[in-house]
Amino acid sequence: MADIRLEGVGHSYDGGRTWALKPLTWTWRDGRAYALLGPSGCGKTTLLNIISGLLSPTVGRIWFGEREVTSVPTAGRNIAQVFQFPVLYEEMSVYDNLAFPLRNRRYPKAEVDQRVRTVSRLLGLDDQLGRRSRRLDPGRQQIVSLGRGLVRPEVAAVLLDEPLTVIDPALKWTLRSKLKEIHRDTGHTLVYVTHDQTEALTFADEVVVLKDGEIVQSGTPAELFLSPAHEFVGHFIGSPGMNVLPAETADGLVMVGEAVVGRAVGELPPGPVNVGVRPEFVRITAHDPPGLQARITGVDRMGAYHLVHAEAGGHELVAKVDADSAYSPGTTAFFHFADAAFLFRDEVRCGSIA
Ligand code: ATP
Repeated sequence: MADIRLEGVGHSYDGGRTWALKPLTWTWRDGRAYALLGPSGCGKTTLLNIISGLLSPTVGRIWFGEREVTSVPTAGRNIAQVFQFPVLYEEMSVYDNLAFPLRNRRYPKAEVDQRVRTVSRLLGLDDQLGRRSRRLDPGRQQIVSLGRGLVRPEVAAVLLDEPLTVIDPALKWTLRSKLKEIHRDTGHTLVYVTHDQTEALTFADEVVVLKDGEIVQSGTPAELFLSPAHEFVGHFIGSPGMNVLPAETADGLVMVGEAVVGRAVGELPPGPVNVGVRPEFVRITAHDPPGLQARITGVDRMGAYHLVHAEAGGHELVAKVDADSAYSPGTTAFFHFADAAFLFRDEVRCGSIA
């Protein structure tokens, strides 16, 4: 197994008028579990199909280790792919479906049996092995598809395109942790496509965020949460997403309207910026010290915490506060942006606030 390297790889479905995937250079490191996260239409499937060879990129070159595979068809790339919906031999038993990829590559019989039993145990299929696949419900069939993708130990990568879509929500949690367990066992490079942040954050060593055909940031779940490099990452990850307020900088101070909300760290040319701060890092005081004055418009009592919604100078913001706090709609309070507040210009992070 080896790193998978994309060099200037991009794809256009319309002869270069628009780019579903803008040319990018990127390495998928051997043995790492990645989530490829982004909204519908951002190019996730396009990127995945380029790695597997189902799609030939319009530009760029692809390397599996030292071997260039740009014009190698899927069958020659040694990739396992799992799709959104089950892909099975319906007339075969679950056992034979799981064994098929191994038998196809002439694995010894004992090893086939051992791999099938390991994967089926981890995925909770061990009591289903004798059943005909067509008799299973769609959720179970998809778990068998997942097993087929994970059963071969020697693949260059396992590519999973929204693999849990048809699975019952309660079972999704279990399967994600099973996937992690299988990943620890096999050391496959995994690329897991999803538009669901929870799925991405709970599964991956590294989350790659795609927007409009471009990678805007990649990092551990904590890095993306604590240090978003792009406004989109702030919005898309977190619940609710990051607050964004238009601001000005002057003499190192950051002003939202008339209020000084902090001091810009580092050199920043004067002019408009956006302040981004996650609801978790907004602090509210009733009187002192003064901060950004805002009118509280509503309070959502979520049980474990409260969400305090407010409005300042025509802009909305929200704070996530302890469940024992008592703020009332209609009152005003001071909102403070401590620690993890950042400055963005043209959506890209350009500084932070102290
Ligand atoms: P989803 O989560 O909805 O599957 P995605 O992030 O996987 O979305 P892609 O399916 O890669 O996104 O699509 C990226 C862009 O390319 C979209 O604008 C889509 O409409 C377009 N596109 C995808 N496949 C084709 C195709 N075969 N022909 C033309 N345009 C396509």
